[in-house]
Amino acid sequence: MGTEYPKTLEQQARRSLYLKQYRQDHKEERRLYKQQYRRTHKIQTALYAKHYQRKHLKALEAYSCQWRQKVKAEVLGYYSLNGFPQCVQCGITDIDVLCIDHANNDGKQHRAICGLRIYQWLRRNNYPEGYQTLCFNCNRKKEVLRRRDDADRVGNKG
Ligand SMILES: [Zn+2]
Repeated sequence: MGTEYPKTLEQQARRSLYLKQYRQDHKEERRLYKQQYRRTHKIQTALYAKHYQRKHLKALEAYSCQWRQKVKAEVLGYYSLNGFPQCVQCGITDIDVLCIDHANNDGKQHRAICGLRIYQWLRRNNYPEGYQTLCFNCNRKKEVLRRRDDADRVGNKG
């Protein structure tokens, strides 16, 4: 019993339901088993992961791209004024031209951080203070003004 493959559609449906229920009822058991398997079959696991990645490259890329976009939107939204991605200076909402700006131009860290990893970093570090969402234009303008200020200060000294 149970070893015979179900033949009719009804049997197949019942079998599939049963398996679904079984997986749900044995969640923890299955998790531990998989964990143990990965520990004792490191090479097989690595080979399979490689195979899987190669086979699903496009889908994985799309997924990771989607995920990065999601994180980016989340972080930019956090450092905006209204909770959604928007430049705090001019109000533009086009996410493609928004980036994270180091609000306090402290020392050498003044440079705007528009890299990809910054979003993940900020999120992982529970959104530290001292950052704001700016568009590239406002970001550039801020930088120009800052340099002009610095130049003035040096000029006044001399
Ligand atoms: Zn702006």
